[in-house]
Amino acid sequence: MINEKMLALGESRSAIREIFEYGRKRAGEIGAENVFDFSLGNPSVPAPEKVNETIAELVKTLDSVALHGYTSAPGDMAARAAAAAQESLRAGYDIPAGCIYMTCGAAASLTITLNALINPGDEVVVLAPFFPEYRVFAETAGAKLVTVPPEGKSMQPDMEKFAAAIGENTKAVIVNSPNNPSGAILSADTLRAMAAVLEEKSAQKGSPVYLIADEPYRELVYGDARVPFLPGIYKNSIVCYSYSKSLSLPGERIGYIMVPPCAENAGKLFAAVCGAGRALGYVCAPSLMQKVAAHCAGERPDVDAYRKNRDIIYGALTEMGFDCVSPDGAFYLFVKSPGESAAAFCEKAKEFEILLVPSDSFGVGGYVRLSYCVAEQTIRGALPGFEKLAAHYGLK
Ligand code: PLP
Repeated sequence: MINEKMLALGESRSAIREIFEYGRKRAGEIGAENVFDFSLGNPSVPAPEKVNETIAELVKTLDSVALHGYTSAPGDMAARAAAAAQESLRAGYDIPAGCIYMTCGAAASLTITLNALINPGDEVVVLAPFFPEYRVFAETAGAKLVTVPPEGKSMQPDMEKFAAAIGENTKAVIVNSPNNPSGAILSADTLRAMAAVLEEKSAQKGSPVYLIADEPYRELVYGDARVPFLPGIYKNSIVCYSYSKSLSLPGERIGYIMVPPCAENAGKLFAAVCGAGRALGYVCAPSLMQKVAAHCAGERPDVDAYRKNRDIIYGALTEMGFDCVSPDGAFYLFVKSPGESAAAFCEKAKEFEILLVPSDSFGVGGYVRLSYCVAEQTIRGALPGFEKLAAHYGLK
């Protein structure tokens, strides 16, 4: 008998993929320019020029065996040092390269970290709305997922419910800021309040409740918004980073885990991370991409292109009477479904060839996610359809 849980996972497509596949089919029928697909979070901004230049230079100059060979399991020292230098800038003190474990992107960073922490009976707390794969990652690592609802439209957690969710069995809390799907950033006040709860609960249970910071969108922030260095607020934080969005390299699978020196038993924690990476069969992160990261860790995405898209879509939809969460980062807009269920709203939008994702799989009902990491003309082309949707729902 094959594994029932894996069979179920393999047979059920995510809601996002389902809509994306529908979009491809529809593009074949009526032409891609007539389909306004806002389903996927695939960066629309090209990788910084230095990334492709570095790849070309590495391929030209490095010995092929060295370039494509295995690296050590935690990664090439140059890639770890470059990541540590970036973390040091954020921390304001020196983070040694030995704290960095190179991974195949944020998904691997999360699965490795969860497997490094989870024992049978443990619980992992997530703040809704959350990236749907958290459930898959946490449950596969053997934990029970516990969700905390947001407080109104701020998308900050309801602190009373947060405190109530942390119990004897809580091993970790995952935070994702800027957030997929809402674009909200957890404020410093929220994070400090969460840290106070976690300190108290850790003391009560006699062992740390870890904070896992899932930060693939850390550099995709608008205006003055900043993502604070979490270990500076709560020492038992583990940072799960990815270059997927910051360097527009999601298909290349490169990121890292940082276990900060201030974490309790940081050495053992790092060793457990190495153990989990080994047990999950990762061997090492892609060698060429580690070398790219070593040279390009300080490169930044063209945030202006995303900000422009955000301003157009947020401004237009708000003007039409849609109720949207104001996004401070990432490239997602969370729109309140007018009247009906989110699924019904998505179906109605399809009539105007607009593809949105209902919020249910993100752990909250009544919203849709719109990914605005698309060409500007896709956004502009969709606006007449949104006008008709607004009229259908009698908005404004
Ligand atoms: N975490 C969040 C919140 C995401 O949105 C994504 C991807 O969209 C990931 C993790 C996985 O990122 P990666 O491609 O680096 O594995």
